[in-house]
Amino acid sequence: MSTILAVEGVTAGYGDATVLFDVSCTVAAGEIVAVVGANGAGKTTLLSTIAGLVPARAGRIAFRGEDITGRPAHWRPAHGLALVAEGGRLFPFMSVEENLLLGAYAPRGRAVLKERLEEVMAVFPILRERREQAAGKLSGGERQMVAIARALMCRPDLLMLDEPSVGLSPLMVGRVFEIVERLARREGLTVVLVEQNVTEALTVADRAYVLDHGHIVRGGPAAALRGEREIQEAYMGL
Ligand code: ATP
Repeated sequence: MSTILAVEGVTAGYGDATVLFDVSCTVAAGEIVAVVGANGAGKTTLLSTIAGLVPARAGRIAFRGEDITGRPAHWRPAHGLALVAEGGRLFPFMSVEENLLLGAYAPRGRAVLKERLEEVMAVFPILRERREQAAGKLSGGERQMVAIARALMCRPDLLMLDEPSVGLSPLMVGRVFEIVERLARREGLTVVLVEQNVTEALTVADRAYVLDHGHIVRGGPAAALRGEREIQEAYMGL
């Protein structure tokens, strides 16, 4: 499989604080890769750096073989690299449909927008029923679906999800992960999944990295990591 994303020796942080230290990881096209770790390990910062929201102070980020380290954040979704931030960041007073249309990013013709809307509503049929409702009135699980659907509106090749399971009931967590898996397996979408829900993440992912205090300390097939006592004790509460 070809590498779609390569993070090479990236260091990043905020002000005087360094949060990521020489982080390297790769993602192959069509894979689901989980990044797990404790609170404050730097998982969100890693996604933000890949998304161009936090500058890399050292190292390089390559997307489809191209060095995108210096590209602005807004360049990325338009070129196939999308981020769903923690909590989804929807516009609560706008309708589901309006939120989705915002995800189409660049101004496009009505026909294209309609086609994209149909595509994402086929993935999330519940959003068709809710299309006129204010996003703020939806359940947590539905809001997460809108956030993912909004990111899909620009037809990304790689979707980064920051803690999609936060605040969801176990039933909804299952649904959201099921959809993520379906998108990867059937539609060929590549997914980077940041999760504190380590058991679920390692179940759905092909490979995983463990981030600890800003360092990648482990990486490998998710199934193997899931079976390791050390990982189970440190992150899975077993
Ligand atoms: P969590 O699951 O709690 O979000 P995380 O692994 O995603 O944890 P980050 O959110 O990347 O971790 O945070 C890593 C460190 O960076 C923490 O010490 C945090 O306080 C700090 N940090 C995060 N965002 C900022 C910011 N905007 N300004 C300053 N420090 C920040």
